Amino acid sequence: MTIPLVDLRAQYAELRDEILAAVDQCLWSMELFMGPNTRAFEEEFADFCEADYAIGVASGTDALHLSLRALGVGPGDEVITVPYTFIATIEAIEHVGARPVLVDIDPVTYTIDADEIASRITERTKAIIPVHLYGQPADMEPIMALARQYGLKVLEDAAQAHGARYKGRRVGSIGDAACFSFYFSKNLSAYGEAGMVTTNDPEVAERVRMLRHHGHESKYRHTMVGYNSRMDELQAAVLRVKLKRLADWTAMRKRHAAEYDRLLVGHVGTPYVAEYADHVFHLYTVRARHRDQLVETLRREEIGCNTHYCTPAHLQPAFAHLGYGEGDFPVAEHVAQEVVQLPMYPELSDEQIGRVAQVVRAFEAPVSISATARHVGTCAGCPAFAGS
Ligand SMILES: *Cc1c(COP(=O)(O)O)cnc(C)c1O
Repeated sequence: MTIPLVDLRAQYAELRDEILAAVDQCLWSMELFMGPNTRAFEEEFADFCEADYAIGVASGTDALHLSLRALGVGPGDEVITVPYTFIATIEAIEHVGARPVLVDIDPVTYTIDADEIASRITERTKAIIPVHLYGQPADMEPIMALARQYGLKVLEDAAQAHGARYKGRRVGSIGDAACFSFYFSKNLSAYGEAGMVTTNDPEVAERVRMLRHHGHESKYRHTMVGYNSRMDELQAAVLRVKLKRLADWTAMRKRHAAEYDRLLVGHVGTPYVAEYADHVFHLYTVRARHRDQLVETLRREEIGCNTHYCTPAHLQPAFAHLGYGEGDFPVAEHVAQEVVQLPMYPELSDEQIGRVAQVVRAFEAPVSISATARHVGTCAGCPAFAGS
């Protein structure tokens, strides 16, 4: 049985008629940019996030970049974020000419270690970007408190966490602004590139609106140097169809995660869900001691898997100029060696989950665990970090 990591065709099969009708309607109207679909989707997505404003842009990466500019971050400033994220989080900081300052992650939630932030704040620090990784919100309360204390902006990277909640509040409504991606594999995905900025600040919203469209303020009047970063109408039309399904899809992801947990507990480190979090399981990430061999076994059994992020950003050649090296972020480096993502998408069946679990259990049998030289203290439900 071949089981892909993500099966987008299964989703398309269910939505095909609706998607084709929406695309057809859009093409007949020939309103291809900043038209009725973008406007409606912005409103619907703002409602979904319980935020006041949503501004559609061309990608999640642009959403980060434009919001940093809209928040007033620029050359000479420092922005605090994590090394354990998709590279775009850190690229966006460089795109506005600011300096990324990295902070290690929490060993069980894999999100920014809020206790470490204060020690990295300098007089140049302008913003913090917590990343809601794999679908789990970062611990926002202490982050917002620090931001208030030091006068910093908070930009949520919610690219993997559409619909997640922190203490009951939707991500995307907590920080000064937030960024979403609709990349094809995200929980809400376009058939091309698209992204969104959400905010409760009308001025930030207005600046992002201008920046995405060449600094356009009114007809023939451009008041800032902006970008071509509009959301396209075809993507907005598709996303409107899919947004209606997102709550159901999220419920299915959670159900699958619970089923995986039940079958895998005691064999690999199953995901830890913080008590403050409503986790939307963009990815189902487990920890395994012999990760690379497990990956090999899964591939041999035709089970899709991935290892996001096996090289943390501070060890990527692109960021060598930041001067970080091995050992600087021990938690991120350690986690990076042990994580593996198993197939996760709403249409996954119990039979498929059972098959994946069977392969994982056969591989990481308790006997092989007791035989390992390096004990990392992985208790079933809690992939505890015991140093490297
Ligand atoms: C996907 C992703 C992005 C970038 O989104 P794109 O739409 O691909 O540009 C940014 N941050 C994180 C954490 C992501 O997962």
